[in-house]
Amino acid sequence: GLTIVLTYENGILRSGATRGNGEVGDDVTANVRTLKTVPLRIPIQRDAPPAPARLVVRGEVLILKEDFKKLNEDQAARGHAIYVNARNTASGSLKQKDPRITAQRPLTAFVYDIVDSSDPTPATEWESLAYLAQLGFNLVPDCERYDSLDALAAALPSWEARRHSFPFETDGIVIKVDQVALRRELGVVGKDPRGATAFKFPSEEATTRLLDVTINVGRTGKVTPTAVLEPVFVSGVTVSNATLHNYEVIRDLDIRIGDRVIVKRSGEVIPYIIGPVEAARDGSETPIRPPTHCPFCNTPLVQPAGAVDLFCVNPRCPERVFRSLEFFVSRQAMDIENIGPQTIRQLIDERKITRESDLFTLSAEDLHGLEGFAERKIANALAAIEAAKQRPLAQVITSLGIDGVGSVVAATLASEFRSIDALIDTCVRTQQAVEAFRSIAAPFAQNAASPEAVRAAERLTNPLLDLAVRYADAPDVEKRLARLLKPLLDEHPDLPIAALSAALLAVIDAARPLLTISGLGGILINGIVTWFSNEDNIALIRAMQAAGVSMQRAQAAALGDAFNGMSFVITGTMSVPREQIEQLITSHGGKISSSVSKKTSFVVVGDSPGSKYDKALALGVPIISEADLRKMASPA
Ligand SMILES: [Zn+2]
Repeated sequence: GLTIVLTYENGILRSGATRGNGEVGDDVTANVRTLKTVPLRIPIQRDAPPAPARLVVRGEVLILKEDFKKLNEDQAARGHAIYVNARNTASGSLKQKDPRITAQRPLTAFVYDIVDSSDPTPATEWESLAYLAQLGFNLVPDCERYDSLDALAAALPSWEARRHSFPFETDGIVIKVDQVALRRELGVVGKDPRGATAFKFPSEEATTRLLDVTINVGRTGKVTPTAVLEPVFVSGVTVSNATLHNYEVIRDLDIRIGDRVIVKRSGEVIPYIIGPVEAARDGSETPIRPPTHCPFCNTPLVQPAGAVDLFCVNPRCPERVFRSLEFFVSRQAMDIENIGPQTIRQLIDERKITRESDLFTLSAEDLHGLEGFAERKIANALAAIEAAKQRPLAQVITSLGIDGVGSVVAATLASEFRSIDALIDTCVRTQQAVEAFRSIAAPFAQNAASPEAVRAAERLTNPLLDLAVRYADAPDVEKRLARLLKPLLDEHPDLPIAALSAALLAVIDAARPLLTISGLGGILINGIVTWFSNEDNIALIRAMQAAGVSMQRAQAAALGDAFNGMSFVITGTMSVPREQIEQLITSHGGKISSSVSKKTSFVVVGDSPGSKYDKALALGVPIISEADLRKMASPA
């Protein structure tokens, strides 16, 4: 993790700073305040000893293994890049400029040391830890005290054996002299205190030779360089491949073919390369140049602005098609048993399939003669394909493998739109509105001089990325737009603000169902609109529909039509699980929305409601209780 120093004055958290190697670090007070494991006020219990007038403690901020795994599952579900290294992620999260981002990361703080106190402090380390715990600090759960060096030495193997059962990754333990006075007397040599030492566990790193770099192209076209290594034994297994992430990492670390490199493998993380051993070079190493063309289809690779990865943008790239189909049939997507990656590869090679929809029209004859396919397996595979036609809409959307649309976003889209046709309709209309907006903005967007005007012009290149989200619920869009675009307006007094704001309102209107889904953001909305308004993609969906794949959300049995045309937002705790309330609404023809806008018909409020309640008040949206809702559904 990352060391933090917390200062409390009269029990109130005043500041938090990072500190590396004894130097003064960054002030991260606002970020530290968002950590649940950092008390804002001590003591947290009334019967605890009173806080000193001034208390400075040292600790560590990190991400627990379990939290890191969940964070990455979440990233994957949203289609975002996963984090490689828990330590770097923790450090990067704590140093964010925006505390709201820090608050979203699952950081944990442990406190282990008193740096300074205006009150007398305990005479031993052991008592200090107890005192810190009494004040309400979160302590590392595993601490032990030994009466002699022999007892300590005897216990070391058991610490090592437990290494992977700790809730966090660790490379060793810290051994301290318990008597604080004695420890002080022992003093410091250089930077190292003599009263404390680190006992390192055997390394999970090894050095080996980088033989080659191969290129993977994923279903989104993303290019990932993979290291081919001289096989090396690292923490229990032989590793011969490791990820290099992307070519910017390779360039930044200056990794060359032929280098001795340090490979790390820890827990369940994919092995990765920390960097080269530069001292071991003999001059025969060759630099690794990013490829310019896709190795599978020879299309020039593209690096989108602001991205670190290269992409093959050819949607018919055979490798991309293979990876999409491999994903499509996988358990996390359509879950078609009996059709695995090798079968997909064979079916593509024999030109039996070129896209996802082709799977649903495969015949017994098509499967005949494939490796490992006898009568029985053919029957099973065809049955599995047939069953896959009835997957829930959310699962179908996930399976399309749209960048950014993992299972979480797909489920939201399915419940918001209820059918793929409604989603396509919204996206096509939005795309048309976007193009109309662009045709007005284009002459000005490309002609800006000052840096401020250039920034303003960038907002006009695609209204979905920024403007639509920003002004979705705003009054006076024209006035706000004029203010936002002022630097550009100064250079181009003829910029048609009225026409632009009318075109923007048309975009907002068309994209409304997407804009009201909270948490989607401009980039993701743009990605969804682009995908579902693309002709090839629509053709794919139509072909799947024609083959009998269900593209509708299963309807709950209709119980009435009392809520026809109404939209509801639910906030707070209800007397029954949330799904039952949602079902009550949808079974009477109503729609559920996740965020409040002026178009929301009612906000249903339960116990301890969230910010949606405040927003409803602010917008003047009618607020009703669960009982009101039930009465409205079936008036007696
Ligand atoms: Zn390609």
